[in-house]
Amino acid sequence: MGRLFVISGASGVGKSTVLKKVFSEREDLQFSVSATTRSPRPGEEEGVHYFFVSKETFEKMLADDAFVEHSAHAANYYGTPKAQLEEKLKKGDVILDIEPNGAFQVQKVRSDAILIFIMPPSMEELSRRLNGRGDTPPEQIEIRMKRADWEISQSPRYHYIVINDQVDTCAQKILDIIANTAD
Ligand code: ADP
Ligand code: 5GP
Repeated sequence: MGRLFVISGASGVGKSTVLKKVFSEREDLQFSVSATTRSPRPGEEEGVHYFFVSKETFEKMLADDAFVEHSAHAANYYGTPKAQLEEKLKKGDVILDIEPNGAFQVQKVRSDAILIFIMPPSMEELSRRLNGRGDTPPEQIEIRMKRADWEISQSPRYHYIVINDQVDTCAQKILDIIANTAD
């Protein structure tokens, strides 16, 4: 059975960017691909970054008990498909990029899960990154910045807090946590 690493952090803090670096350094690590009702951003691929599903499909999956955890975030639904996670855990370690409600739901069913929170250097820098990505409508940015305060307030419940100042440094800290966490 592989180990389970949960990564959370406010939208725009750099989770995808940092995780890309982490996966490039450790090809044995697997990413848990979530289902979401939000639309794909430019460059996002079906089945790689997310399974992009309709609200109806998401609700059907929910009724079928197909999720390990699920949550609403910025007016969209997100969930971790159960069957996929179980298959990946049979092969090795898995990283989940999910928000705090989901992280704590996972912790209830897998008490050995390692929770890592990525923190922005400042709220100003978080706003700059979210705006700079250029793919999030202004009203969504406002929702996500409000939500960021709550998410950061949950960070003391995580095992590790890592600041994403420089991408490479942040990725290395996560790689060190993964390497130093005993089976
Ligand atoms: P998330 O997955 O957390 O929503 P992204 O990985 O999409 O965030 O990053 C949001 C934006 O911030 C992107 O434009 C990305 O290039 C940029 N970014 C990520 N990490 C850093 C960093 N350490 N310094 C400066 N910009 C960053
Ligand atoms: P984004 O839309 O920016 O990709 O993701 C928004 C938020 O949803 C992020 O905090 C991300 O970690 C979270 N998220 C992505 N997939 C899941 C999931 O399967 N479950 C939960 N609970 N959160 C998720």
